[in-house]
Amino acid sequence: MPVHALATSKLIRLLRRALPSDLVREPADPGYAAATQPHNSSFLQRPVVVVQPDTAEQAAAAVAVARQAGRRVVVQATGHGSGTALNDDLLLLDTSRLDQVVVNPAERTARVGAGTTWSRVQQAAESHELLALSGTSPTVGVSGYTFAGGVGWLVRPHGLASGSLRAVEYVDGEGTLRRAADDAADPADREALWAFRGGGPVGLATALEIDLHPPGDLSAGYLLWPGGDLPRLAQAWTDALTSAPDTLTSTLSLLHVPPTGPFPAELLDQVAVHLCYATTGGEQDLTAMRDAVRAVASPVIDTTGPADAATLAAIHLDPPSSVPARGDGWWLDMPTADLIGSLFDAARIGRPRGLTMIELRHVATTAPAREGVLSRPPAPFLVHMVAAAPDDTARAGVDEVLAEVAGAIGPTAPGRSVPSFREGQADAGTAFGEPELARLTAVAEALDPGRVLRFQRGLPR
Ligand SMILES: Cc1cc2nc3c(=O)[nH]c(=O)nc-3n(C[C@H](O)[C@H](O)[C@H](O)COP(=O)(O)OP(=O)(O)OC[C@H]3O[C@@H](n4cnc5c(N)ncnc54)[C@H](O)[C@@H]3O)c2cc1C
Repeated sequence: MPVHALATSKLIRLLRRALPSDLVREPADPGYAAATQPHNSSFLQRPVVVVQPDTAEQAAAAVAVARQAGRRVVVQATGHGSGTALNDDLLLLDTSRLDQVVVNPAERTARVGAGTTWSRVQQAAESHELLALSGTSPTVGVSGYTFAGGVGWLVRPHGLASGSLRAVEYVDGEGTLRRAADDAADPADREALWAFRGGGPVGLATALEIDLHPPGDLSAGYLLWPGGDLPRLAQAWTDALTSAPDTLTSTLSLLHVPPTGPFPAELLDQVAVHLCYATTGGEQDLTAMRDAVRAVASPVIDTTGPADAATLAAIHLDPPSSVPARGDGWWLDMPTADLIGSLFDAARIGRPRGLTMIELRHVATTAPAREGVLSRPPAPFLVHMVAAAPDDTARAGVDEVLAEVAGAIGPTAPGRSVPSFREGQADAGTAFGEPELARLTAVAEALDPGRVLRFQRGLPR
């Protein structure tokens, strides 16, 4: 038998000895196929085995076995953050069964399993009249989102999700259970929390403790117009931003509306301008921006009104099913309407070689945040763009357009990457400077000297 096959049979034997057999799934087993179909379908996943732990102890046992067998572990909850092919050397640890949510309403906190999606967290939080800092999609997982920063609809009143991360229960590269907390006795666990707050994962998380926030008088909605209205809307939006209340988060995007779906018939398969906004300050906080944009162009649809977490999860019009998405994001200073026009033009939405969507998010905040490598937005805006790219040729084409958008920002642009929006990419790009990278690397080396754990969207290791 070849050495590789021998090593594989040893790995499976050890895993089946350490764990209940039905948690260990080889390619022919039921459950393997579903676990290896990530929400971002850009890359094939063909790990030698999938482990689906029900407990933190089982996750730790799987890491210890992989280390003993000389194999690396990759972790995945939803696969939204998938950015590389997973080959047969790897053990895929699927955290989707670690999905318990326990809310402490008195403390305004929640302990959430690392495989939980935001829709579950919000459901539990809302029953106590609280909200977590989720993003635009209900199916995104808490871990990948929070460890990349997490830019949600409440970013202006309450900051990034990483700034509300209180503690992380995790497994290090030796297979030891640990707890990253600001008051941890071991400095390595204090450093780990600094890193988990936006710097990407430095251990395999099994549960997160997060702050919850009062929703206030939550109001939200979206408006759509034909793409030709962009110049007037960009001017009206940027003018309205100068007096926008701190409770109000908004995004302006240009998108290619799909040919079918829940959109106004006249916009199907067309380019559309999309404004989304949300506030904790009631509908009156939306009025000035709403009036300003409606005054320059009459929208095809306007859903502005009272909101709940489900509304927040719908207004961005994210695709519900899996997509081979490739994209990027960069932090930006306040854009002018002309710059918005140049960026959106460079994205070629609706034109040959074009991206599917480009957006600007207003993220300026003065909200308090816990200390972390990326626990506050480093700039008041970000630009995010995405396209479907199922193969290397398509990815190269998307990358050319991304470079054109970067060039439209200015001669020295783009600056720092927004790790959350590096869709279909393996690492966090230019998110961190040298000092942060050195400190992140030191944390990762201390916790996983044998490099058993391999993460996407974080440090390339
Ligand atoms: C439709 C859509 C909408 C989005 N909207 C937003 C948004 O509004 N704001 C925003 O900030 N981002 C947004 N994102 C980006 C999203 O935050 C990232 O794709 C994120 O990586 C998804 O995390 P996940 O856990 O769901 O994905 P996964 O693919 O399961 O995980 C992504 C990565 O996170 C790490 N990870 C996951 N679980 C663990 C764990 N238990 N321990 C250690 N590391 C772990 C791993 O490195 C993994 O590769 C969106 C993405 C999509 C596809």
